[in-house]
Amino acid sequence: MSLPASITDELLSRLTGLVASSGGDTHKLTEVYTGEVITALPQSSEADTDAAFAEARQAQAEWASWPVARRMKVFKKFHALLLEHNDTVVDLIQAESGKSRRMAFEETCDVPMVISHYLKRAPKLLKPVKRGGPVPVVTTSTEIRQPKGVVGIIAPWNFPFATGLSDAVPALMAGNGIVLKPDNKTALSPLYGVSLLYEAGLPRGLFQVVCGEGPVAGPPVIDRANFVMFTGSTATGRFIGERAGRNLIGSTLELGGKNPMIVMEDADLDEAIPGAIEGVFRNTGQVCMHIERIYVHERMFEDYARRFVEAARAIKLGAAYDFGPEMGSLISVDHKDRVASHVEDARARGATVLTGGRARPDLGPAFYEPTVLTGVTKDMLTGSCETFGPVVALHPYRTVSEAIALANDTDYGLNASVWGSDLRRATEVAMQLQAGNVNVNEGFAAAYASKGTPSGGVKQSGVGARHGDNGLLKYTDAQNLAVVKKQVMGVPPGQSYDKYARTTLKSLAIMRKTGIR
Ligand code: NAD
Repeated sequence: MSLPASITDELLSRLTGLVASSGGDTHKLTEVYTGEVITALPQSSEADTDAAFAEARQAQAEWASWPVARRMKVFKKFHALLLEHNDTVVDLIQAESGKSRRMAFEETCDVPMVISHYLKRAPKLLKPVKRGGPVPVVTTSTEIRQPKGVVGIIAPWNFPFATGLSDAVPALMAGNGIVLKPDNKTALSPLYGVSLLYEAGLPRGLFQVVCGEGPVAGPPVIDRANFVMFTGSTATGRFIGERAGRNLIGSTLELGGKNPMIVMEDADLDEAIPGAIEGVFRNTGQVCMHIERIYVHERMFEDYARRFVEAARAIKLGAAYDFGPEMGSLISVDHKDRVASHVEDARARGATVLTGGRARPDLGPAFYEPTVLTGVTKDMLTGSCETFGPVVALHPYRTVSEAIALANDTDYGLNASVWGSDLRRATEVAMQLQAGNVNVNEGFAAAYASKGTPSGGVKQSGVGARHGDNGLLKYTDAQNLAVVKKQVMGVPPGQSYDKYARTTLKSLAIMRKTGIR
């Protein structure tokens, strides 16, 4: 197998040239399907990160002075370029992550969707809002949205293009600069996105990329940023939140999940089985919002398990740069070993493997079969920790309230799914689930693709959210600009404080009665 024709030496040298690095260490970035080296990715020292922030700050001062409409023009162009060069983006995502082409394609759609949403919303959100001052007519207060400055984005490997760029879009629109630290394994696709942003007219230097291993390259970003957007594991999120707190900067933490699905007794299995297959195995199960636990009413459990296993066995696995395979590789041999250790631990403690449970070295070094378990208990690794692979546990339940309690019996709260024909009943159940996203008759994509609604985790799955109005406003400081047209706010000359206090109380009563303030 060879790399797709679009990944030329010229492209690779252009992309690695965008990394803020003055030379020195490099990281061998490999093609997941073969384990062969694609390129030597430059690594950024602390001094490189310092220089990256300095350059981004300089460019940001100019960018923030542009009228919003002028900034939006860059994103209209960027949107068009993303569609035009879709094939190259998909090739790069596949080469560095090993995911199927179908999934790589779906990932590329996220960025234009986010751009399109905020192209509509940003001009409204960034407009100054007159709020009225404390004394009507003679005072005013205006809410002005100032950019934070330079936003640090720390992104994971599972959706490198989407998490590297989609979160940057509203931050840039709001007038910020960006310093992105992608995962070392998956830096090429976000770097390509950055090159297209420059082609679209972004001022030089505004979007910096620093590369390195997380514990080395991450902290210098947090220590220089005015806000941190982090997507990754709960363990790293805890470290980042703590460090951001110490630096007195805000952060959004999008973390892991152990997401449940409840199949109600009236669910249409012709829809619920393929829906669950997508919800579990998309992106080879490496999706923070994917389903790891399925609760099925006991009366239909056997039938459901039989049909679900049949469908899981039918999934077409493969390493190919075309839309043929339905499921691709895991990200690395290390991660495959971690997923396998969860399955082995479950097996050793008494769980049953209904299908899968083995690696597929015949397809590639990090392939693992779609795996369905029963008899999983909370003392097993996969019973309580995020497995983050193509592994799911089926559980029978007797009553809906039991299913809700089981679904909520986790430290995580990122996503949940309920399947049923009676939409009102399914929605009632959905509202009782402790999760930042809940999908009725869908695994996770419906909530994630709804860009107008905030999407984040509760409990140990995160702090804050992306998307929605606050997905842009969080990258701004609200400045309260108050103007006094006439000096009416103190004690008038010659008046006793006694009289002033009585007049003030009277006006408070009038304002309450009239509703003026
Ligand atoms: P990870 O936490 O190990 O790494 C994520 C990023 O943080 C990488 O860029 C890494 O280099 C960096 N990092 C690691 N240690 C760091 C440190 N000490 N300081 C600063 N940066 C550091 O996560 P991962 O294994 O790469 O990604 C998978 C995880 O991400 C899963 O838990 C998944 O659920 C989660 N995730 C969550 C969402 C969401 O939106 N909630 C989306 C995608 C992935």
